[in-house]
Amino acid sequence: MKLPAIVVHGGAGSWKDDRIPIGLAEVENAAKVGFRILETGGSCLDAAEACTLYMESCGKLNAGLGARPNSDGEKELDAIIIDGFELKTGAVMAVKGIQNPTSLARYVMEETEYVMFAGEGARRLYDRMMSEGYRKEAEHGAIQMPLLEEGGDTVGCIAVDVGGRIAATSSTGGISEKLPGRVGDSPVFGAGAYANKVCGATATGYGEHIVRVVMCRMAVQYYENGASIQKASDMAIELLERDTGSEAGIVMASANGDFGKSTNAKAMPTVAIRENIDSIERFTR
Ligand code: ASP
Repeated sequence: MKLPAIVVHGGAGSWKDDRIPIGLAEVENAAKVGFRILETGGSCLDAAEACTLYMESCGKLNAGLGARPNSDGEKELDAIIIDGFELKTGAVMAVKGIQNPTSLARYVMEETEYVMFAGEGARRLYDRMMSEGYRKEAEHGAIQMPLLEEGGDTVGCIAVDVGGRIAATSSTGGISEKLPGRVGDSPVFGAGAYANKVCGATATGYGEHIVRVVMCRMAVQYYENGASIQKASDMAIELLERDTGSEAGIVMASANGDFGKSTNAKAMPTVAIRENIDSIERFTR
């Protein structure tokens, strides 16, 4: 067992060479934010939310502040959070005017009877969340780092707490020049992210292709069927490539703290930390 554990990616794609170290540095910062919560006994959900919130707020990755605009020049954000132990999820899709959709997704999961909200309804739910004091804003539309005193591309993480409970996130501005209202895989349970009591996975790549193979659920199934976690990650990417010809990336972590990652794209800045902060592992793909 190597717990707690966190594995974080900053998006798979054709990164420009000079942007890879910038993305990797932000992914490392985010992983440390999440790991600090885990190592002091915090929950996987708190760690996954804070880690993802960091990446949404850094402005260097395709999520939150740094999200790519749609063809109308507006940011429309998609995000999901999953509580693997309880098999619960919350997601928001094509939401405008906010910076941190993952916190809103958690509100959907924890404070409503629903699992998915889209567009203007999601935006209104954000106002309700704020009026109830669920989170505090640093400025309008941007949430304060909620759980700490201190303070590309699609982002996502899998956090496993000391109790072996798994949380997964994915957060994105989507693909370049997407039409208004377009939603990709990222907020779709099973496709863009998945977690249960055994294992979690989160994906990045061209959403229209990832949904067709339900990539994250498939990856976890491969692991449940007996593949090693690295093999399960590789098999998920092979499935996507075989059935759609596309490129993507995936990171996975299991309840005992094993992790895997795989991509057939040029780069996918990824960081894993397990047991203690000195065990940090950095990968450019
Ligand atoms: N999966 C995201 C989407 O299709 C994009 C990405 O991973 O960069 O919206």
